[in-house]
Amino acid sequence: MIIAIDGPAAAGKGTLAKRIATALNLPYLDTGILYRATAKRVLEAGQDPDDVQAALAAAQALGAEDLKRTDLRDAATSKAASQVASIPQVRQALLDFQRHFGNSHGAVLDGRDIGTIIFPHADVKLFVTASVEARAERRYKEFLAKGEAVGLAEVIADVHARDEADRTRAAAPLMMAMDAELIDTTSMDASTAFARALEVIRKKTSR
Ligand code: C5P
Repeated sequence: MIIAIDGPAAAGKGTLAKRIATALNLPYLDTGILYRATAKRVLEAGQDPDDVQAALAAAQALGAEDLKRTDLRDAATSKAASQVASIPQVRQALLDFQRHFGNSHGAVLDGRDIGTIIFPHADVKLFVTASVEARAERRYKEFLAKGEAVGLAEVIADVHARDEADRTRAAAPLMMAMDAELIDTTSMDASTAFARALEVIRKKTSR
C-alpha cells in the first residue's frame, strides 16, 4: 500500500504522515529530507545551490548519515532545498530511492510530487494544505519552541517564497493530483486532520 501525501510547506504533512504510518504499520519517508540533505551538502562545500553539477553531485553522494541529520530545518537550508529541488537532474537522481523505498514494503511518503510523479498510482493520495498565515504561524511556534530567534513576518515571507518557487518551477511543480483528496488544516487540529485522513483511507482501501 502506498499513501502519497503532498502539499505546501508547513501544512502539517509530516505530523499526519507519521500518525498514518504508525496506525497502518507502514514505513514512513519524509522526502523533503532528501532535498534538504542535498542542499546542506552543497552549502557546507561552499557551493551555490543553483549550480547544477554541484547539486547533482551532492544528491548522488547522499548516504544514510545525511538523512539522519537533525540540523536540516533552518531557514537557509530550507531555501537552498527549494533551489536544488528545482533542478531536474537532482529530482531524477532522487527518484529511484523514493520508488525503491515505497515498493519494498509499501509506505507513507510526504512531499510535493509523490502523487503526481513518484507514485502516480498510489492507493491513496492526500493533498494537505492550509492558509499561508496558519502555516507560517505553526512554523514560527516551532522555531520559538526550539529557542530560535525569528520574526513572524520573516517566517511568513519565507513560507510564501518557498511556496511560489515550488509551485512555479518547471520540474515537478507542487500541484494537487487530479485524484487526490484535499484536506485543508487551516482550522483543524492534528487529531481532526488524522481522523479525516483515516476516513479517506478507509473509503479508498479496505483498511
Ligand atoms: O517538505 P519540506 O519542507 O521539508 O521540503 C523542503 C523542500 O524540498 C521543499 O520546499 C521543496 O522545494 C522540496 N521538495 C520537493 N519535492 C518533494 C519534497 C520536498 O521538491 N517531494
